[in-house]
Amino acid sequence: MSVDAWRLPWQGKMVPHAVIEILRECNITCRACYKNCPPEPPKTLVQIEEELDALLELRRLSSVSLLGGEVSLHPQLCDIIRLIKGKGLCVELMTNGVTMDADFCRSLKDAGLDVIYFHIERGQTRPDLPDTHTGEDLNNLRREKAVTAGRAGLDVGLTATAYPGEIRDIHDVMSLTLDTPELNYLLITLFRDHAGIQSLRGDIRTGFAGSGTPPDASSLQNNTWFAEWVRNEFELEPFGWMGSNMDRDDPRWLSYLIGAVYDGDAAPHIEYIRPSLLEKVSMLIFRIAGRYPMYLEQNQARFRTQLALNGILGGRRRSNRELVRRSGKSGVQLTTKRILFQNPAELTADGQLIHCEWCPDAVLKNGALVPVCVADNVS
Ligand code: SF4
Repeated sequence: MSVDAWRLPWQGKMVPHAVIEILRECNITCRACYKNCPPEPPKTLVQIEEELDALLELRRLSSVSLLGGEVSLHPQLCDIIRLIKGKGLCVELMTNGVTMDADFCRSLKDAGLDVIYFHIERGQTRPDLPDTHTGEDLNNLRREKAVTAGRAGLDVGLTATAYPGEIRDIHDVMSLTLDTPELNYLLITLFRDHAGIQSLRGDIRTGFAGSGTPPDASSLQNNTWFAEWVRNEFELEPFGWMGSNMDRDDPRWLSYLIGAVYDGDAAPHIEYIRPSLLEKVSMLIFRIAGRYPMYLEQNQARFRTQLALNGILGGRRRSNRELVRRSGKSGVQLTTKRILFQNPAELTADGQLIHCEWCPDAVLKNGALVPVCVADNVS
């Protein structure tokens, strides 16, 4: 089941990322919402700082993602961002974008936000989309939000759910991400129904024990299939991956690193990047220094250097050279894009939990790390 890419070196305390859920309230409905607990008041700044400090004890973080509910409904969102930035970390957030206008985006940027992900997808009930929306409606709204946030100086991404039988929507959102210079991140989460989980105990370090009904086999998707689909549809190959706690060769977390050159109205020139000795040695140096990076801001000069060295040290020399050549023209834009496929945790018939081995999207629950995709099922 393994894919031909680089197995990410993140393990144990050296996983550089975690998630903080800052409130549960939301202002729209989504089909795949995994929040199944009753609403609670938003976490206070003090609670969030305590949670962050506890996470920093468990992981050498370089980046934190803020999740809800809908994060823009938290009355102290900018203070939370400033708090995390004050600890020397990068901050990303996921929003449905309903309330995100130019002023809001600018205030987030001023507070120090690095990346904003917009979650806009089919089946949402929201005031800025017709009840019966087309793929074009979705992409128009995604593009509008991306341009607004990009103009505010934020790095921008999208999130979407891959529902079984709805691969056309994933094609649409991937095409938009590749075609749009403001969009540099895409997180695709494979749909997983957790309704059958009755109980779940444990944490990422010691493992989980649960009870309930495993998801229906006919609904299960996997990233080996998606890697093949991406190859056939977009001619892209993955860069890095992480296996599961039960099968290190099962790519639960599969990432693509892509270079794109935008030259006016012409179609962008897209190339995927392969891992080389450069990235492996760099990660070794980061490991020795004490923590891995997670988020790297856009930097054309640095990316051009990476492309040149990556090509020499085992990457795709010819295609990297082409990106460097095209990006040397005045007026063109070179961007680094990252696309990630996540296969959420699933309960097995014998009560174990399969999850990304070192779950980079863990939250703190009962003082321990648990995957955010099943956090509400853990008691
Ligand atoms: S196990 Fe962690 S990284 Fe994997 S899908 Fe769940 S929350 Fe995301």
